[in-house]
Amino acid sequence: MSIPIYTYDAIIVGAGLAGCAAARELQNAGKKVAVITKLHPLRSHSGAAQGGINAAFSEKDSVELHEFDTVKGSDYLADQDAVEFMCQKAPETIRWVERMGAAFSRTEDGKIAQRPFGGQSSPRACYAKDRTGLTLLQTIYEQAHRAGVKFWDEWYAADIIYKDGKVSGVVAFNIRDMQVVIFNAKSVMFATGGYARSYKINSNAHANTGDGLSIVARHGLPLEDMEFVQFHPSGLSGNGVLISEAARGEGGRLFNSLGERFMEKYAPNAMELASRDVVSRAIINEIREGRGVGPRKDAVFIDVTHLGKDLIMERLPELRDLAITFLGLDMIKEPILISATAHYSMGGIPVNIAGNVRKNNTELVEGFYAAGECSCVSVHGANRLGANSVLEALLFGRFVGKTMVKEVDDIELRVATKEDAKTALDEINFILNNNGNETITGLREELQQGMTTNAGAFRTKESLETQIASIKELHKRFKNIRIKDKSKIFNTELQEAIEFGHMLDYSAFIVESAIARNESRGAHFREDFDTRDDENFLKHTMAYMDKNGDISLDYMDVVLGKHELKARNY
Ligand SMILES: Cc1cc2nc3c(=O)[nH]c(=O)nc-3n(C[C@H](O)[C@H](O)[C@H](O)COP(=O)(O)OP(=O)(O)OC[C@H]3O[C@@H](n4cnc5c(N)ncnc54)[C@H](O)[C@@H]3O)c2cc1C
Repeated sequence: MSIPIYTYDAIIVGAGLAGCAAARELQNAGKKVAVITKLHPLRSHSGAAQGGINAAFSEKDSVELHEFDTVKGSDYLADQDAVEFMCQKAPETIRWVERMGAAFSRTEDGKIAQRPFGGQSSPRACYAKDRTGLTLLQTIYEQAHRAGVKFWDEWYAADIIYKDGKVSGVVAFNIRDMQVVIFNAKSVMFATGGYARSYKINSNAHANTGDGLSIVARHGLPLEDMEFVQFHPSGLSGNGVLISEAARGEGGRLFNSLGERFMEKYAPNAMELASRDVVSRAIINEIREGRGVGPRKDAVFIDVTHLGKDLIMERLPELRDLAITFLGLDMIKEPILISATAHYSMGGIPVNIAGNVRKNNTELVEGFYAAGECSCVSVHGANRLGANSVLEALLFGRFVGKTMVKEVDDIELRVATKEDAKTALDEINFILNNNGNETITGLREELQQGMTTNAGAFRTKESLETQIASIKELHKRFKNIRIKDKSKIFNTELQEAIEFGHMLDYSAFIVESAIARNESRGAHFREDFDTRDDENFLKHTMAYMDKNGDISLDYMDVVLGKHELKARNY
C-alpha cells in the first residue's frame, strides 16, 4: 500500500474545545496547522456540556475563592500553580470567547448570568441555557474555520511517531476508505478528550474511548493519576445519560424511598451542592442500604417541580427533554429517577502548565503537547468541580497553542519514512485478518460491566484485583477476535476493535493505580482504607506500561501553595 506523507508545522488530534482553540492560535500566527478528528468537530463531546463554565467576576466572588474551591474540591491533589493560572485567566477567557460570538444567558440588567454549582462558594458558572458546551464549541470551531484551519474530519489517529524523546508526527487513516497517511510535523498536540466509555453506566459520547492515552502509553510514556475517575451524581437511571449539575444548581432536591432529603446526613451545609464525589457516594449508599426508588430500587429522585414551569423551560429545557425521551418522565410535573454515572477523568497524559508532555518526573518530550480532558496538568487533582472542565479545555487549549507557536520554529523536522506507519498497519491487518471466535461486543460488555462493579465509586483491594485479573484475561481473548466486516469502506467494526484495545490498556492503568493507592481521596474511595493519608499519598501517580502490557508505578510531588491542607467538609 502506498502511504502518502503530508508535512505540517503542527498537527492537532481532536477538534473539541481544546483542539479548536489551539489550532486557531497556530493558524493566526501563520503556522501550517491541521486538525485530525475522528468525528465531525461539532460532534465532539464538548458539545454535550450542559451546565456552565466557571469564572470569578461577580462582585461577591474573587479569583482567590475560585482557587480555594478548586483546590479543596481536588482534595488537595491539584497542582496549585496550575490552578492559580487557570482561575486568574478565567474571566479573560469568558470575555475572549464572548467577543468571538458566544451568546451567554444574561441577567435582567444585561450582565452575564452565573448559576451556583457544587463545591463553589459563589454562583460562578456562566451558561447558555443548558447548552453551554454547544454554544462554546460552535463559536470556537467557526472562528478556527474562519482563520483558515484545515480540518481532516473522520480521520482516525492510530499512532504517533516517537523516537529518542521526540514526537514528529501522527499515523492516521481515513475512516471512509482506510487510506493510511503519515502526517509528518515539527509538533503534535493531543486533545482527544475523555474516556469514561470503559464503564457500563456512563455519561460519555460513544467516541470517548481514550485512544490518545493508550497511543501514548504504548510508547512507554507515563499516564498520571489514572485512578481518579469522577462519578457524576445525576445520570438518568438505567443508562447514565447526564442530567447536568445545573438541575441541582438551580435548586433541585434529592429524595430517597422514605421521602427523606438524605443529603442532610452527608453534607448538612452544602446539601445537594456538595462536591460530586460526596453526593455520588451518598446516593449509592442510600441505594445499598435499601432506600432506592424505581422498579429496580437502584435510583433516587431528583425533584425540580418546585422551580415551576417557566424557570425549567428557560434554564433547563434540554434536561427536561432528555428525561421525557429516555424515562417518559416530565420534570415539570414529577420527580425523575437518577443514579451515579461515570463521567469525567481527572487523570491523563501528564503535562506542565505550558502544555509540554512529560517523559517522566523531570524530562519533557520534544515537540509533543496535550490539553483538555485527555491531559493531566493537574487542575482537578482527585476530584473536579463542575464547570471547571470546559474552562480547562478552552483556556489551556488556547495557551498550549500559544506555547506551540513560540516553540515550533526552534524544532527541527525529523523527516518521516513509510516505516513509521508499521505499528499502525500491523494493528489494522491483525484485526482485519484474524480468524478467532471472540466478538468485540462481547469482550467490551465484560470490560464495562467489570469496571462498573469492581473499579467504580466504591473500591477495595479485592474488587480491584478481580478487575485486573479480568483485564489480563480479556487481553488474551482479544488476540482471538474475529470481525465480520472485512471491507475498507466505513468499517466501523474495525474501528471499534481498535478502540476496544485502547479501552483495555487505559483501564489497566486505572485499576493498577487504584490498587496501589491505599487511601481515600476525592473520587477514589477505598472501603478498606476509607480516610485520606497525606503522609503517604499526597503525591501524583505516574504509571508506565512495558512491551508486555505490565504496568509499573512511580510518584511525583504535588505543587503545593497558599491553600493549606485541611479536612474536606461540605
Ligand atoms: C454530558 C456531559 C456534560 C458535561 N458538562 C460539562 C459542563 O457543564 N461544564 C464543564 O466544565 N464540563 C462539562 N463536561 C466535561 C467537558 O465537556 C469535557 O471535559 C470537555 O469538553 C473536553 O473537551 P476536549 O476538547 O478535551 O475533548 P472533546 O470535546 O471530547 O473532543 C475530543 C476530540 O478528539 C477527537 N478524537 C479522539 N480520539 C481520536 C482519534 N483516535 N483520532 C482522531 N480524533 C480523535 C474527537 O473526534 C474529538 O474531536 C461534560 C461532559 C459530559 C460528557
